[in-house]
Amino acid sequence: MTEGKSKTWEEHWAEGDTPWDAGRASPVLEKYVAEHPTKKAARALIPGCGSGYDVFHLARAGYRSIGIDIAPSAQRRFSELRTIAGLTETEASLVTFDFFALSPDDLGGPFDLIWDYTFYCAISPGQRDAWRSQMDRLLSPNGTLLMLLYPVVAGAPESQGPPYPLDPQKVTQQLSPSFRVQHLAKATDSHPGREGKEWLGVFQKQAADT
Ligand code: SAH
Repeated sequence: MTEGKSKTWEEHWAEGDTPWDAGRASPVLEKYVAEHPTKKAARALIPGCGSGYDVFHLARAGYRSIGIDIAPSAQRRFSELRTIAGLTETEASLVTFDFFALSPDDLGGPFDLIWDYTFYCAISPGQRDAWRSQMDRLLSPNGTLLMLLYPVVAGAPESQGPPYPLDPQKVTQQLSPSFRVQHLAKATDSHPGREGKEWLGVFQKQAADT
């Protein structure tokens, strides 16, 4: 992600230059879904999903999981890994699309869960209001935005990225009042090298009449 400014996302993927790729699902996500089993066939959206490890993990946990990535070349890696994971396209799919141009109708309706990990930090700070509106639009009433905030580094210049550093309190303010904070704390079990820089946020979308 460090070279994201000079290259497009597609160039990164086409050249196999994906230094952000941890090679497995987030341990924080694994722990969360183990502790919060889902209802049958709940739907999950994973924006900026890249190789798709988290998409596959959510699919194995019972979600019908759809990843979105703007880079067409991410599709090849995703398909290879889905085959290895033994999952079907109905269980786990990747749609090559710009998250900001998505409407819920494009994907069969709103989602019960959206998992954001290393997507918020990949977009420019100027896109954060549009990010919030899209989260609101794409989630069902009472749906959950599950977010692993990264990188949280005190004093880091917020305008330099990607990855753009973020502040958990500012993300919370940005999501208010449409989302209620259910949980926000420093995460344990991070990928190696990211320990202490990740916070888990569980934000519940408020139904229109609450
Ligand atoms: N979440 C993945 C990838 C993180 S890198 C992981 O943890 O490995 C950020 C990803 O977001 C890249 O794959 C990039 O192609 C994708 N991306 C960037 N802008 C996007 C947009 N507007 N819509 C959809 N995907 C986008």
